[in-house]
Amino acid sequence: MAEQLDPDCVFCKIVAGAIPATVVRETERTLAFRDISPQAPTHVLVIPKAHFPNAATLAAAEPELAAALLTEAAGVAADEKIADHGYRLIFNTGAGAGQTVFHAHVHVLGGASFHEGMV
Ligand code: IMP
Repeated sequence: MAEQLDPDCVFCKIVAGAIPATVVRETERTLAFRDISPQAPTHVLVIPKAHFPNAATLAAAEPELAAALLTEAAGVAADEKIADHGYRLIFNTGAGAGQTVFHAHVHVLGGASFHEGMV
């Protein structure tokens, strides 16, 4: 399926192959790649290949694709062997929450302990 891309979006450029990324998993409609500025030993981003500005707009438009991000995030955790210890999934949604790339994505963070709370 040809996915809708935004020519000004960095993650769309990764999907298109115009910017390199270390891809760890891929499906027809999702891509998982390592964050360029890792905040934990494992830090992978899972995105829909189609452009949606954030998780809320993705979930409203394509709930099955939104759910697929969670399936792929669990797959990343299994592949990276971080599932047994535990890992954190984060959807920053909106600039006030720290979202800096306005293409829906979930952060998969693991390989460390996150006991200090929510923020
Ligand atoms: P946000 O703050 O939730 O929007 O997260 C965006 C993430 O994208 C940040 O953790 C960035 O380090 C990451 N990022 C930005 N540009 C790239 C890139 O070109 N490759 C991989 N990760 C990127």
